[in-house]
Amino acid sequence: MSRENFDKLGEECGVFGIYDFDGNDVASTIYYGLFALQHRGQESCGIATADTNGPKRNICTHKGMGLCNEVFTPEILDGLKGDIGVGHVRYSTAGESTRENAQPLVLNYVKGILGVAHNGNLINALELREELEQTGAIFQTTIDSEVIAYHIARERIKVDSVEKAVANAMDKIKGAYSLIVMSPRKLIGARDPYGFKPLCIGKRDNAYILASESCALDTIGAEFVRDVRPGEIVVITKDGIKSNCEKCLPKEQEARCIFEYIYFARPDSRIDGVDVYDSRIQAGRFLAQDSPVEADMVVGVPESGNTAALGYSRESGIPYGKAFVKNAYVGRTFIKPGQSSRESSVQIKLNVIKEAVEGKRIIMIDDSIVRGTTSDRIVSMLRDAGATEVHVRISSPPFLWPCYFGTDIPAREQLIAYNRTIEDIRKIIGADSLGYLKEERLSEMAKGLPICKGCFTGKYPMEPPTRDIRGNYEK
Ligand code: SF4
Repeated sequence: MSRENFDKLGEECGVFGIYDFDGNDVASTIYYGLFALQHRGQESCGIATADTNGPKRNICTHKGMGLCNEVFTPEILDGLKGDIGVGHVRYSTAGESTRENAQPLVLNYVKGILGVAHNGNLINALELREELEQTGAIFQTTIDSEVIAYHIARERIKVDSVEKAVANAMDKIKGAYSLIVMSPRKLIGARDPYGFKPLCIGKRDNAYILASESCALDTIGAEFVRDVRPGEIVVITKDGIKSNCEKCLPKEQEARCIFEYIYFARPDSRIDGVDVYDSRIQAGRFLAQDSPVEADMVVGVPESGNTAALGYSRESGIPYGKAFVKNAYVGRTFIKPGQSSRESSVQIKLNVIKEAVEGKRIIMIDDSIVRGTTSDRIVSMLRDAGATEVHVRISSPPFLWPCYFGTDIPAREQLIAYNRTIEDIRKIIGADSLGYLKEERLSEMAKGLPICKGCFTGKYPMEPPTRDIRGNYEK
């Protein structure tokens, strides 16, 4: 979905890596893994592969703008040889949307090659980048992932293994990162100590896999082994998996992004022991308990509102129904950026099933309202189709603050909830009633896992930067 299309937030990226100990080519498996992670980023994608038995400097890379099935053909995948590789799908929150900024990043340096795929945002990337530039570093991209790659390469010269270099780099970088690093003979996964972004380990035959979400493991027929712990570094070699937890924090200081459970992750994924589907059902149940209303049918705004709508229905006993048909085949390119295009694009993507809603009081569940540019259109589409009442329930609290960790929340002034009451927002979107998920419900939704909820509360797990860090390199 284009970022200009619906009033939704953007995730930064999805990452996937694999090392096949039997020596099979891995590019097509990475492709299918990325395909399963496409919801995490649609602007660009890429794959880098290498042969762990070949020369240390040989690496095959292909990257491009667009979706996986636009960037890769069977011929291109055939040309990507090697039994180890990393892949990436990207949605830009820091750094321009250009081909140069597509990942994985590949660095050729004195110790061989490094392929790096990163999900998240660093809060000190700008300072680190300036420091590196002072010492002669020349950057090819405007993304903070390159800062990470540079640090790992520099540290690698000082220490005797790439995993030690990753550990040293982790002492310098601050913020959100789930990383996959491919060295000539090793695949390494690392997750920042707060665990903002997910990363899990899978296994298929004699191959180990690292992926942003478990749905990518299912897609390629791999079994889920476990999540990488926040702060953990895992090293995959032919000797198996080694773990280093020196950077792990006490559990209560961890801070997973709650928005993975609310919206970003696929509902068939399981993150840190919590099923995304279950947490969305639970959010719907909480909404039914906290914001009940009499109605004839509960509907979800597809796709992300559907699961919470089912939870609301189960809790309230009000039948669940389908009110919308979503056109999944809308091309991304012809929807022009800008307010008016955003509005018209709602109807291109969504249509109401008149027969389903006519004469009914509808409870409409959506996962979030960001700017509020589409909610009023969707409410009036239901009314135009004959709904007698439209009650809107949102399965997250109101957005009030920016995110510094990789989610594309716009400036505060653009957030519909900023400086407005719920009643103000209800009037703007034209609903009969409006209810949000209570902030205190978020922890229950994540089954008690320590979470970040900074965009709702303004309280972040680490000191936020004093300036807006997004897109700074271009300024
Ligand atoms: S501020 Fe919000 S979007 Fe950003 S990491 Fe925290 S919970 Fe996720």
